[in-house]
Formats: sequence, C-alpha cells, structure tokens
Amino acid sequence: MKKFTEASTTELKTMLRELKKQYDAFCAQNLELNMARGKPAPSQLDLSAPLLGAMDTYTLEDGTDARNYGILDGIPECRRLLGETLGIAPEQIIIGGNSSLNVMFDTLSFLCMFGTQGEKPWLFHKFAGHPVKFLCPVPGYDRHFKICEELGIEMLPVPLLEDGPDMDVVKELVGSDPYIKGIWCVPLHSNPQGICYSDRVVEELASMKTAAEDFRIFWDNAYGIHHIYEEVPLKNILDECSRVGNPNRAYYFFSTSKISFPGAGIALTASSPDNIKELKKHMSAQTIGHDKLNQLRHVQFFKTPENLKAHMKLLAKQLRPKFDAVLDKLETNLAESGLATWSHPKGGYFVSLDTIPGCAKRTVELAKTAGVIMTGAGATYPYGKDPKDSNIRIAPTYPTLGELEQAMDIFTVCVQIAGIEKLLNDKGE
Ligand code: PMP
Repeated sequence: MKKFTEASTTELKTMLRELKKQYDAFCAQNLELNMARGKPAPSQLDLSAPLLGAMDTYTLEDGTDARNYGILDGIPECRRLLGETLGIAPEQIIIGGNSSLNVMFDTLSFLCMFGTQGEKPWLFHKFAGHPVKFLCPVPGYDRHFKICEELGIEMLPVPLLEDGPDMDVVKELVGSDPYIKGIWCVPLHSNPQGICYSDRVVEELASMKTAAEDFRIFWDNAYGIHHIYEEVPLKNILDECSRVGNPNRAYYFFSTSKISFPGAGIALTASSPDNIKELKKHMSAQTIGHDKLNQLRHVQFFKTPENLKAHMKLLAKQLRPKFDAVLDKLETNLAESGLATWSHPKGGYFVSLDTIPGCAKRTVELAKTAGVIMTGAGATYPYGKDPKDSNIRIAPTYPTLGELEQAMDIFTVCVQIAGIEKLLNDKGE
C-alpha cells in the first residue's frame, strides 16, 4: 500500500469518505473512554491494598512513637528502604509528603525566595529585569511547565533526543547565559516518550560549564524503577555531580505514586549534604514533619528493595498487555499511512505519538467528539504551544484492555481523518 502522503487527491477523498463513515458509527455509540492522564488502573492499586491493613507496630526502630510529632526528614527505615532501592545514601534523602510534584514546587519556590548556597534569590533577578530561565527538554511533562509558569520562570524548549536532551544545545545555552538557572529532566522512561538518559548525557549534565554558579538540575526520576519491557540502568546523577566537583548541582525527586497509591504514597528529595541542610532549614519553618505513619506503612508492606522491585514486576505484568495493545493498534492501523510516528517505550506510563505537522489539535478534537479523551494537544510543550502541532500523549494504564482497544481504533481513525484533511488542505482542496 502506498503512503497516504503519496496518494492522489481523488484517492485521498475516497479514503476520507470511508473513514468518516467509520467515525460517524463510533460517534453514534456515545462512548466515554479516557486516555488523558497517567493513572494506575484499579487492579494495579489492588496490589497495594494490604498496605492499608492494620500496622504491625507504631514504634520505630529507634523507639520513636510514629503516631506523634517529629522527624522532619522522614523515618530512618523509610529513607534506608528508598535509598537502597535508588542507590542514594539515606542521609542525603528527605522524605516529603504525598507528592513529588509538591516537593518540586517547594524546592523551586525556596530557590526563588531564598536563593541557594549564598547566591541571590532567583526572584531578585526577575525584579531586576532578568527573569530566571529553565531549559525544558521537549516533549515533556506538562506539570513541570506549569510550576515554572506559576513562579514566573521562563521556559526554553530544547530537543529531547534518543538518549536524553540535545547536549550540544544545552551546553551552548547554559555556558553563555547566567540567567539560565536550571533544567527539568525525567531521566528514565520519560513522560511522554519513554526516553532513557545515557551515561554520556548524565556525565555531561553533571560536568558541563554553566554561566550560573547556582545552576540546578531538577532530576525527576518518577519512573526510576517502572520498567515494563526491559530494565534500563541509569547513572547516579548525585554521585556524578559530586565526582566532578559540582556536588550541589542536582536535586533528585522520586515518589511511590505509581508504585503504591497516587496521592497517598510517599515522595522524596535527595541532594548533596549542603543542599539537604539548606532544604531542612526551610522545611523546619514549613512543617513539624510529614506523615510518618504512611512512611511506616510503606516500610512494613515492602520491607526490602527486593520486594519493592518484585512488586514492580507484578505491575509490569499488568501493564505489558496494555502497552502491547496500544502499539499493535498503532502498527496495524497507522504504520502504512505515513501519517504518524510513535515511541516504543521500555517502561514508564506513556506512548508518545507525532502526527504529520498541523494535525494534533484536530485529532484530539475529533477523538473528544467521538468520546475518547486524550491529553490536550500542546500540553507536552511549555506554555501549551507545540510549534509543529504534532505531539499527542497516549496514557494506556487506566482503561481496561477492551476499552483500550476500542479507544485506539477510534483514535487511529481520528489521526487518519485529521491527516488526510491536512493533506487535502495543503493541495488546496
Ligand atoms: N513527575 C512525572 C514525570 C510524572 O509523570 C508524574 C505523574 N504523572 C509526577 C511527577 C507526579 O508525581 P507525584 O504523584 O509524586 O506528585
């Protein structure tokens, strides 16, 4: 079959008529299918349900009663469990509340208000007429971009390549502009493409020369142990920064949102001893301590890093058929059309699809009318502006397998309709 992009006007019009018939039939079914957000399915949550049962004890290993106030940086046994899992020294970890996004917002707010390690508060630069800027590898996570928008931090998109951000672009920018103060990184199974950073990229991020003394990497390892098809190793950014003499450069974030319960799990920040000391000072004005009972519940349930990883294997077993279904439908329904390309993630929560330029908004709109809700087109770019209007994030985890197959049939028809409409439009039809 020849690609749609090579078809004649008459052929395109015939195909469009046929696809619209299929589309109208889908619309008539009044479906409600949602692939918008990366939410675990109820069956995934069920795997962690015993966590909510009666606790073995409320007494911590050092004798502290977990039901009472105290322990600002998190209970030692929880810092040890997550530290061993991620390869981070427990004393470099602060356990936060129920959301890593919350910790990221707080950390960035602290930098804006107080500065870090003796440097000026970032808000100072804004009021002096030099707003602070962050590099945003694209496509990326919309909620990272929202944090920057809310805090008045300007965002500069940089291309995300096969093995991480385009480091030539990154090095050039950070080397010359002292107001570029940071970069967002989702180093494993990135949201939405599933990109995994290579050792070279991690090494360069840690060692590159930055015009800003207080340049910071926001290392959001949200999918650090969320392998689905293949376990992918990741070089330790904190060790690397320390090894090359930039010990304070990175803040590491992680949470159990996609391990136990989103919104009811535990989050962490890890960084250099000096940064941890600074964060604890700010935090001590903010809270007496986070939810130790939830931390203890997680420790009592998972007990060891090995158990935690075994739990991730059970989750992967549930997710594999869903990712397979999405990828099979894309292959079967779109591969020959030439109207889209897509990612083949090894883990994480998403598949990322690129339509031919100028079709993402129209595709998402068509899908919505047919009862399939996708993440808004543009959401994967700073300010919601995808310059090519081509990227769409697919979140396969929440629907059942049956719903997913149905939703993907509808979605792929929408990709084709939007693509053909665009091709015809380009031909002046
Ligand atoms: N970071 C990334 C990259 C994510 O995809 C998500 C969830 N979609 C989060 C952070 C949110 O994490 P939390 O629930 O810990 O706030």
